[in-house]
Parts: sequence; C-alpha cells; structure tokens
Amino acid sequence: MPYTVSKLTDYSEEALDKAADNLLAALEQESQAVKSESDWKAFRDRWMARKNGVLTQVNELWLKAAPKDGKRDVGQRVNALKATVEENVQKSRPSVSATAMPRGVSAKAEVGVVKAYGERPIDITLPGNRRPLGAEHPIIKTMNEMVSVFRNLGYSIEEGPEIETDYYNFESLNFPPNHPARDTQDTLFIADQESKPLRDRLLLRTHTSPVQIRTMEKMKPPVRVVCPGKVHRNDAPDATHSPIFHQIEGLAVDTNITFCDLKGTLDHAMKAFFGSSVKTRFYPSFFPFTEPSADVQISCIFCGGKGYRDGGRCPQCKASGWIELLGCGMVDPNVYGFVDYDPKKFSGFAFGMGVERIAILKYGVDDIQLFFQGDVRFLEQFG
Ligand SMILES: [Zn+2]
Repeated sequence: MPYTVSKLTDYSEEALDKAADNLLAALEQESQAVKSESDWKAFRDRWMARKNGVLTQVNELWLKAAPKDGKRDVGQRVNALKATVEENVQKSRPSVSATAMPRGVSAKAEVGVVKAYGERPIDITLPGNRRPLGAEHPIIKTMNEMVSVFRNLGYSIEEGPEIETDYYNFESLNFPPNHPARDTQDTLFIADQESKPLRDRLLLRTHTSPVQIRTMEKMKPPVRVVCPGKVHRNDAPDATHSPIFHQIEGLAVDTNITFCDLKGTLDHAMKAFFGSSVKTRFYPSFFPFTEPSADVQISCIFCGGKGYRDGGRCPQCKASGWIELLGCGMVDPNVYGFVDYDPKKFSGFAFGMGVERIAILKYGVDDIQLFFQGDVRFLEQFG
C-alpha cells in the first residue's frame, strides 16, 4: 500500500521522529523503483506537486495543524524533510544519473571532478581577473582633508538636514524678507507650500549656515564647530556652476573673540592645507549674518603669487597673484538674538568655503561637472 501522509495527533519528539522516518523510508523505496524518465516524472509529481504532493500535505497536515508552541520545531523538521525530498528527486532522475553522476556515489564523484579540474595545467599567459579598487571621491577627499585641519585646531564636526525651513536657511541668519536669495530663481523650494507661513516653508538648503544656528540652539559657548555638507542652488549646470555642490563652514563663539582670531585661524588653515608659503589677505565684503564681513584671498598656488609663469600670464589668478577662496566675518549680534546668546557677553566668527572650488584648484580640474558625472576614467585618477 503506497505511503500517505496522516494527520498528527501527537506532537512529541518521538512521534515526530517516527512520522519523519516513515516518510523517508517511503521516499527511499519509491526512488529505488524509478527506472525511466516517465517513472521519474510521476515520482516527482507525487512528492513535489504544489497541489496535493506529499510535501504540500506535510505542510497542511503537520505544520499548519501544529500547536502554537511547537510550530517552530515542526517548521524546522518540515524544512529538513523538504530539502531531503528535493535532493532525492533530483538525484533519481535516470538521464542525469546515467551520465554525469552515478547514483549513490555522487558525492565521491563530485570530489573527483573538482580534483581533476584543479589538476589541469594553469595557463599563466591568460589575462588575470581584474578587481579594481575603489577610491575616495575627490570631493569627499578634499572635504575630509579640510575638516581635519580644523579638527586639529580643536573644532568638532556638526551636520544638519539638507531639506531646511526658510527660518533656518534665511530668517535666523538675518536675511531680510525680500532678499533675492529667497527667490525661486536662486533657491529650490519644495512645491505646493504657499498655504504655509513663509518661515515654515521647506527648501533645499542653499548653504550649510543653518547648521550653525542649530548648533547654537543646542550648545552654549564656547562653540567651535565645522559643518561640512551638500548644498543646492537653482543654477543650470555648466563648467563653473552646479545645482549641487558642497560647503564647509566654521563657527567659533566664546568670550573675547576678535577679528584677529579669525585672521589667525584662517591664515593657519590655508597654510596647513596649501603649504606654508601661502599668504592670505582679507577684503571687505558683505554677508547678512556677519558684520564686518570679508572675502579671503590666498596667494596664487600656481605662480607663487607672482602673476606670471612659464613666460606668460598666470591663467589661474588672471595675473593678479591672488585667488579668492572663502568668505568670513564676525557673527552679526542680531543672529545671537535668534539663539538666545547674550551679545554683550559673547562674540564669534564664522567662515565658509566651497569644496568644489578648492578641489578644482588643488587638482587642476577645468569643469565642475566632472565631479558629478561618475565617469570612472576621471575618478580613478584620484585613487
Ligand atoms: Zn597665479
């Protein structure tokens, strides 16, 4: 009488062992009886058919009916049985067993095949398998190097969200309500927010400065942080513009911080990054959140500040001997009002620089788009 799966009433170890033994014995017996391809198909369907095959019945009658706390154990047993059935069905196929792997010695035969394959002579003139190594992206590399200059000065790193509110990106940084940066021409706003008050509207941050506000909200002076990160502007991509780029900003707030500290810090940082012979100079400028503000230029690293090289004008500094690199200033006391610092007690400075601009100078890249196109021929040069 052919084997049938019967309902289990007893889920004890012994009962489960016995049921499994019966099933495996039937499997073995039936697989021995397979002589032809059509025998094998019938055998396969009897055990593995989705509709009413033995495995399906095991699933229905044993696993699904198992008591809740025994499900795990029964599940493991059923999985093991399933694997054994599948393996057995696979092995008993006459066409397979007749050619490649004789029944019963399959494991041994496999070892033999692997051995024979391994002993074949190796052709050392064949090209090898290349496994190209990855490398840091030049922007990340530049960012890490610059950040480590400030870490060595005792600054810590702060990061913030790339999607910001108008409040953190503009209002708290002293941007007046009609400042052109708030225009959609310059800034990428999230759509359909006209019903919200201006300060709550979301946008892609246009600078990393909101991180300074967020840091001051949660930290009392002394504060010394650098904020590296991705920023966005509504610019069409060309050789010098990109809607995505990266900035590093820094902020120091404490008692008695003066413009001298700002100059000394940035002069040191530029020397640490570009080499000790680099000079810096500061030009009056304007930013809404610093007063006074300055642009910082470094002496041209290509011509050594001379303005000419190789018998002609230096193209990098346009023969001026100087390259503009960052913006900075003393934090405007108005900004302290937004973060509850006492402007009579504390003062500080902030600075910011574009990472792509620095990488372009450092590596002599002539198109900012190269950083974002992911072309391996470009990127592998930095490996
Ligand atoms: Zn130059």
